[in-house]
Amino acid sequence: MVVQPNRAPAYRLHHQQMSKEHNVTNTNEVSTRSQAISHWISGGTYHGASTRTGPVFNPSTGEQTGAVEFANVEDVDFAVSSAKAAFPAWRALALGKRAELMFRIRNIMLEHRDDIARLITLEHGKVFDDARGEVTRGLEVIEFCCGIPHLLKGGMSEQVSNGIDVYSIRQPLGVVAGITPFNFPAMVPMWMWAPALACGNTFVLKPSEKDPSVSLYLAQLLSEAGLPDGVLNVVQGDRVAVETLLEHHDVAAVSFVGSTPVAKQVYEKATRAGKRCQALGGAKNHMIVLPDADVEMAADAAVGAGYGSAGERCMAISLLVAVGDVADPLVAAIQRRIGKIQVGDGMNATSEMGPLISEAHRDRVASYIERAPSEGAPVCVDGRDPQLDLGFFLRPSLIDHVKPGMSVYDDEIFGPVLSVTRVDSYQEAVNLVNKNQYGNGTAIFTRDGGAARQFQFDVQAGMVGINVPIPVPVAYYSFGGWKQSLFGDRHLYGTEGIDFYTRTKVVTARWPDPSTSSVDLGFPQTR
Ligand code: NAD
Repeated sequence: MVVQPNRAPAYRLHHQQMSKEHNVTNTNEVSTRSQAISHWISGGTYHGASTRTGPVFNPSTGEQTGAVEFANVEDVDFAVSSAKAAFPAWRALALGKRAELMFRIRNIMLEHRDDIARLITLEHGKVFDDARGEVTRGLEVIEFCCGIPHLLKGGMSEQVSNGIDVYSIRQPLGVVAGITPFNFPAMVPMWMWAPALACGNTFVLKPSEKDPSVSLYLAQLLSEAGLPDGVLNVVQGDRVAVETLLEHHDVAAVSFVGSTPVAKQVYEKATRAGKRCQALGGAKNHMIVLPDADVEMAADAAVGAGYGSAGERCMAISLLVAVGDVADPLVAAIQRRIGKIQVGDGMNATSEMGPLISEAHRDRVASYIERAPSEGAPVCVDGRDPQLDLGFFLRPSLIDHVKPGMSVYDDEIFGPVLSVTRVDSYQEAVNLVNKNQYGNGTAIFTRDGGAARQFQFDVQAGMVGINVPIPVPVAYYSFGGWKQSLFGDRHLYGTEGIDFYTRTKVVTARWPDPSTSSVDLGFPQTR
């Protein structure tokens, strides 16, 4: 168990794995092929004591490119103790200096945006431009955090009683942990560690074991930007690492993003152990299309939001609720578009949609397409293509006449499958959204401002789009769903993120004035 102090770059990109189109100058050139992927603790690569590992694949080829170490209890303990040791100096750093460092972090991430995106594509599979977009949305939160001195301002009331002032201050929590999913391996961790660090906390990240490399690369960049050792640590692993973090007495808070069953478990365990927790879960996002909508615009939006990133977005549209006679033209318009979508290796500049994360997940998604007709829902476009035998690919699929009670309606499929549910009225459409167990995102397509405003008032979901299919809030609002899509009170990033990673302290102060001093056994009052 040795922390390697030489800060050798943990990740470099193999030239042969870059397409000519995306062959951006890269100073960190190394191989991801079949490499051992370890942890990042105390400012360097750390090879843990555990001998358990998991395979990491390039989903576009199906080849194993690496083996990620799975931390044991001692490895996690070392990461937490490093974060704990770094906390006193980090929280004491002047706010201006912390802000300056956030600017440097923003700049180094921007400089290496394409390198980060390439690592995402090689392990996640999403197309390079989409991966670049992911990094940009992460960067926006870092930019928001550059204003941390302003965000941490407290309040003050002067002269609440004779000679007494009251003020509130925000203080960091200590060591906080982040546990993240495979589908945004850079953005979701950035949404967590950027505000957590800016608020003065130290951090232990447990990324997805399916695409673990990018977090190590980001940790290395943070170190190069000047982040002190131990302020951000990455432990790789599975359930063992997660449970150790949830039970660890030195972890004050846990941010989690992933599937609903795991989010619920994490929330229950973390809060039982006395920790603050926000646990974001799965989704089944409905897009309502009213009869007056622009059908071509709605079809463009549905195709982009349904099949982008192969449907592996928690804000993907998976259900189209077609109201009245819009259904037939809408289904036809989507079918016309599906045939033109270029499916292929994410590093190929002509690809618009890449593979799914794993063979098992591809097969799971395909099983819904297989099952739909027997449940009463005809498959208009079947994305299963035996010719796509390399990699974990599925083409886009479209299923019509889907209803609650069918597995394709009830389950989060998390793949390139769009389902169409036909209803007669706006009210039926809204009822569907509101009865659904999830409440992450939703959208309405209409030309009627009154209907849209009513929808915004009625609908039970955390993020709402009006003629916008993927309403991921900008960095100065906050991201999170309702119902089974979020366990906890606080959403990610924005001011709710700052609230989550700080606790307030209220100080009541009186400076000595002997002339007003006397013994008083009563409860303090202001009048
Ligand atoms: P997942 O729940 O399988 O894994 C998420 C994290 O939890 C990973 O780090 C994983 O190692 C860990 N984990 C998995 N099983 C565990 C267990 N039994 N005990 C403890 N830890 C465990 O999710 P995923 O497949 O990586 O990601 C896809 C899911 O994430 C989808 O359901 C998607 O909707 C959801 N998601 C939600 C949001 C959101 O903002 N609500 C954002 C992105 C993804």
